[in-house]
Amino acid sequence: MITFDLCCHREHRFEGWFRNREDFEDQLAGGLLQCPLCGSTRITRKPSAVAVHVSRRTGPPQPLPDRAGDRPGNVGEGEAEGKAVRAESFLRALARFVEDGFEDVGTRFADEARKIHQGEAEARNIRGTTTGAEEEALREEGVAFLKIPVPKFDA
Ligand SMILES: [Zn+2]
Repeated sequence: MITFDLCCHREHRFEGWFRNREDFEDQLAGGLLQCPLCGSTRITRKPSAVAVHVSRRTGPPQPLPDRAGDRPGNVGEGEAEGKAVRAESFLRALARFVEDGFEDVGTRFADEARKIHQGEAEARNIRGTTTGAEEEALREEGVAFLKIPVPKFDA
């Protein structure tokens, strides 16, 4: 089973469970997917989280901006709105950082991360997609990786 983050045209978000990607695409094409909140069948898939692996040998290509006083822990109460804005700009910075500094290996992520971990491939920073089973296998093998959300930006 795989899960996809879905969203209807009214921006209701929900999770769908499918046997596989084809099952999802069949149901989507057949209009069988429905928003549990409003019943809309205009469903789109949200971009899923991207997996990243940072090679210990090369380290991150450049440090993330880390200005003092700009951390969530320092935000006082009553500043929730400012905090949300900061969180969004942080996500944007993070997404740009990963896009610029990490080689996109797509669905080969688990294989590549494993090879780098075992010293069989060039040590570098990579990003890509994983399945739940691949993530489980990587964890069992002690291959460090992170999943980060991919924010959807207005063009
Ligand atoms: Zn809806």
